[in-house]
Amino acid sequence: MTTDLITIDGSMGEGGGQILRSCLSLALCTGRPVRITNIRKARKRPGLARQHLVAVKAAARVGRGHVEGAALGSRELTFVPSAVEAGDYAFSIGSAGSTGLVLQTILPALLTAAGPSRLRLEGGTHNPLAPSFDFIDLAFAPLIRRMGPRVVLRLERPGFYPRGGGVVHVDIEPVEHLRPFELLERGPVLELDATAMVANLPMHIAQRELQVIGDALQLAPESLAARRIEGAVGPGNAVTVVVRSERVTEVFSGFGTRGVPAERVAGRVVDQVQRYLTADVAVGVHLADQLLLPLALAGGGCYSTLSPSRHATTNVQVIERFLGVRVQVGQTDRGAWKIALVRVDDP
Ligand code: ATP
Repeated sequence: MTTDLITIDGSMGEGGGQILRSCLSLALCTGRPVRITNIRKARKRPGLARQHLVAVKAAARVGRGHVEGAALGSRELTFVPSAVEAGDYAFSIGSAGSTGLVLQTILPALLTAAGPSRLRLEGGTHNPLAPSFDFIDLAFAPLIRRMGPRVVLRLERPGFYPRGGGVVHVDIEPVEHLRPFELLERGPVLELDATAMVANLPMHIAQRELQVIGDALQLAPESLAARRIEGAVGPGNAVTVVVRSERVTEVFSGFGTRGVPAERVAGRVVDQVQRYLTADVAVGVHLADQLLLPLALAGGGCYSTLSPSRHATTNVQVIERFLGVRVQVGQTDRGAWKIALVRVDDP
């Protein structure tokens, strides 16, 4: 295994936090040191935000690594991993920064570590622009389990933007090698349901969201659930549509935002669900960028998806710098694409 330093320009493509997280994950999994320059250059406030800094520190702890540049606002970082250690870890983001994104940073390395791990993550669990707890639990984790490891999540308490304070537990039983999968067809849709959660906000928000979703997707009342969350630190509202098909489960989320009517929040979720159902693909836009890294580590696999996002195409560029895989992306039909990972000899 080569230990040459890899330098990644954090301003390429999407130019956001995912480049950093993928670099940390891949450095942990390959043992290769990495330097990331121009971190989050495309963002309004470039450099490391709190969530990214926690991801860096989490990677350093799990990989017994050495880091230079780990400070809020830092635009350049060098990470030199040593050896991945399974075990019990607790990470607190100290804001509504996404627990899901911190989890996805260290999870790949723990999937093939020498022993089981238990994680406790504190922060946001239902954040805009990040995978929610439900998405990770119902859509992402089952596909990781399909690759061999056992990954079980438990939500102790939801945490909403901007107060956070959510708590997630994750148990991981690793395997020696990840097994690739093929997921080109989702199969018939078996179940479609929607849940709207509110914390410290009026219940009518959830009811209005479910009304819009129920009407648009023609769901029976028993497929619609309004939940009041007790014990959350601040106010919050999240609406989740779960599409359970024969071969895959997809999750679509919307988040209440001050000044945005509940009907509009729900309408945007409906748009995502309808786009997915119409295209007849297995994997939605977000899952598509998040499956790249685990499948690349497995050395193969493929899936059908919607038009790849900039997150996906940027992630491909980062992954190909670290691993001996090539990612082939091609359109197969109107609104349908295939992403295939193939092993090559030299990265
Ligand atoms: P930045 O502030 O730099 O944008 P970030 O670190 O919060 O950064 P991104 O680089 O934008 O995040 O990466 C966000 C990740 O969250 C991507 O993997 C994306 O697919 C995922 N994501 C965003 N919205 C959703 C959603 N609704 N459901 C599932 N995953 C999501």
